[in-house]
Amino acid sequence: MLELFQVSKYYGKTLAAKDVSFMVPDGTIGVLLGPNGAGKSTIIKSIAGLLKFQGQIQIQGMDSRQREARKIFAYVPEIPAMYQALTVAEHMEFIKRAYRLQTTEEEIREILERFELWDKKDKLGDELSKGMMQKVSICCALMIHPRVMLLDEPMVGLDPKAIKELKIVIQELKAGGTTVLISTHMLDMVQELWDMVFVMEKGSLIAAYNRQEVQDQDLDQLFFRVTEGSEETRKGE
Ligand code: ATP
Repeated sequence: MLELFQVSKYYGKTLAAKDVSFMVPDGTIGVLLGPNGAGKSTIIKSIAGLLKFQGQIQIQGMDSRQREARKIFAYVPEIPAMYQALTVAEHMEFIKRAYRLQTTEEEIREILERFELWDKKDKLGDELSKGMMQKVSICCALMIHPRVMLLDEPMVGLDPKAIKELKIVIQELKAGGTTVLISTHMLDMVQELWDMVFVMEKGSLIAAYNRQEVQDQDLDQLFFRVTEGSEETRKGE
């Protein structure tokens, strides 16, 4: 479970996030939407522990900054950060040691094969394409078996096969009780995945929907209704 309680963030005088509160339960896929500059990255970076913020973020009821919370949390950034001097296999080994995991060689092979990286396992970080880097980042995150997984624009740059595989993986994580939060502009890509949607605009959360409550409406419709409606229209809903 992932919970945000009145998270606010100023960059100097710019208020990038204002009292953002939401909750994504276990085994649920949440999607964070919003136009450019809405504050999504600010929220994502706050959850990932990359920014100082006001308010509180909890992972399985623990403060997100606690070590125990970090151990069960995985983050796949939009722009993957690779160690230039480590191979793909060594990245996996690094995560395995850092998280003190018991992952076997066979399991590592299975994860890499799912994303067509097994034959690239000896390639160095700076020899990979952006899409390959993203896939390594996803594989590293999966190895952790996280209870909460955060993905920032995960489909951008992936090839169709990898997108298909990632969607299956996300469904599997959900089935296993993991909380997944995806930040994206690609509404089509998450149409079949989402359970909850959170829409931000100008730093505030302006709408939150549960799939059942809105009877499977298209994300497009929901998104444009709240982001294009006037303040009065929204308040009158
Ligand atoms: P996009 O969809 O374009 O990635 P976003 O929803 O992720 O946008 P943020 O990057 O969180 O939006 O930006 C929210 C606000 O904070 C914007 O007004 C932006 O200009 C501002 N902002 C973001 N990062 C910084 C920074 N490092 N310094 C100053 N202002 C920032």
